[in-house]
Amino acid sequence: MTTTYTPTPTTVTSPTTPATAATPATVTVRHLIGGEWTGEPTVERRNPARPEEVVAVAPSATTADAHAAVTAAQQAQADWAATPAPARGAILLDAAELLRARHEDVARDLVREEGKTLPEARGEVRRAIDVLRFFGALGWRATGEVLPSGLPDTQVLTRREPLGTAALITPWNFPIAIPAWKAAPALVTGNTVVLKPAELTPLSAHHLASVLVEAGLPGGVLNVVHGRGAVVGDALARDRRVAALSFTGSTTVGQGLHRVLSARRARVQLEMGGKNAYLVLDDADPAAAARVVAAGAFGATGQVCTATSRVYVTPGIREAFTAALVEEAEAHVPGDGLLPGTTLGPVVSEAQLAVDTAAIERAREQGAHVATGGPATQGLLLRPTVLTEVHHSSDAAREEIFGPVVAVLAVDDYEQGLARVNDSAYGLAAGICTTSLARAHDFAARVQAGVVKVNRPTTGLDLNVPFGGVKDSSTNTFREQGTASVDFYTWTKTVYLGHQ
Ligand code: ADP
Repeated sequence: MTTTYTPTPTTVTSPTTPATAATPATVTVRHLIGGEWTGEPTVERRNPARPEEVVAVAPSATTADAHAAVTAAQQAQADWAATPAPARGAILLDAAELLRARHEDVARDLVREEGKTLPEARGEVRRAIDVLRFFGALGWRATGEVLPSGLPDTQVLTRREPLGTAALITPWNFPIAIPAWKAAPALVTGNTVVLKPAELTPLSAHHLASVLVEAGLPGGVLNVVHGRGAVVGDALARDRRVAALSFTGSTTVGQGLHRVLSARRARVQLEMGGKNAYLVLDDADPAAAARVVAAGAFGATGQVCTATSRVYVTPGIREAFTAALVEEAEAHVPGDGLLPGTTLGPVVSEAQLAVDTAAIERAREQGAHVATGGPATQGLLLRPTVLTEVHHSSDAAREEIFGPVVAVLAVDDYEQGLARVNDSAYGLAAGICTTSLARAHDFAARVQAGVVKVNRPTTGLDLNVPFGGVKDSSTNTFREQGTASVDFYTWTKTVYLGHQ
């Protein structure tokens, strides 16, 4: 995700410092099924920076609720597909305006629910607004083609038909932007949607659904079912009326979903894990390279699928780069994301913190040196962690750590570095810091990753370009975002139009 904010830490914050005079009220979230807000809220979501604060309470759907949502989506489908595309787009544009009007409130709720800093949350809500605008405007763009025919007096044209009902299963790390970038292209192309947000972040998805409903989306066109992945997500995946599933989350869950969807030849798009690598070459400026790597590794508390998590460094720059990276890490101010001065929010949950802490401990056992950071200091606050003396075959270099942890590894030269970058089960994002145009081009051509960054952080994506990876990171068929997402949510029909 793109955030334009550059942190300037001034004060040390603590999760016990009051963010506002009064604790905001708990928001009651409900399912949205067939235009009705339903479901008894039973599951609490607490603020990861203030465990005493219940941010939202949401229902937990049964399999029957999931099926009811698909039924509602199916019933709404024909009318929605028959609605002119510009009219569908107009609803997205109006929803964008509504979200813009409540930008600050939604961003603050996002901080309280997910934990990122307020500037990061503002950036994410801004992204959701822009996504709605982009796809809203796309309603005016013809999507088919008119082509010459080999037959006399005949025209050939292609039509983009909606698939029907799309199920969207989303993670907690970008709780409004990801639902927006999956739902908006699905809706504008005439599909109806059942969204299953992550259990940890029901409120941000609720805000998105609310603006779409208020903007005039007919009942049943967008349905939201909250609850457990193994119950709701699984029920959606197995419902044969679901024509397509777009998922962002862990590789294990994604691979299971892939088996279910592909067994019935339904369309499936998966964005899963990453072990995103950076290559820092001798010709780079060490301080600039450290800034780029730190932004990619520690932004949004490192809880980003494109986060930089391993860095290969050539000998001439290694010492200066590592020292600068440690300095970048230590300049961060972990704390409550709502407090001014905080530059790094808490880890999202105790379970995630336990995973992160265990990964750091395992790295240490496997010979790594913790140059800075380490176990949590307070609550869910984990300081940015730099591991050095990491071996390429160790877990810290091979397995995803979904937190603010980066491993620095030594390589002899560019070729060895590139080989190590590519020697991974994953292939989502990769980057290179160099001043050599030739090296930059060579890297872009030979690296096995869906997103390549030259002298820019691996995180931070534009919304108008394709996004996805290779290997165990993605399905590597249909890309997300930009007009590429239209390919996923439509099928092509070829019409031969003969004159009498
Ligand atoms: P993360 O580790 O980021 O939470 P998950 O893959 O567990 O990644 O979760 C991503 C999304 O997938 C969430 O909405 C979650 O509820 C859902 N999910 C988890 N397990 C399943 C499953 N077995 N079937 C379908 N969806 C699932």
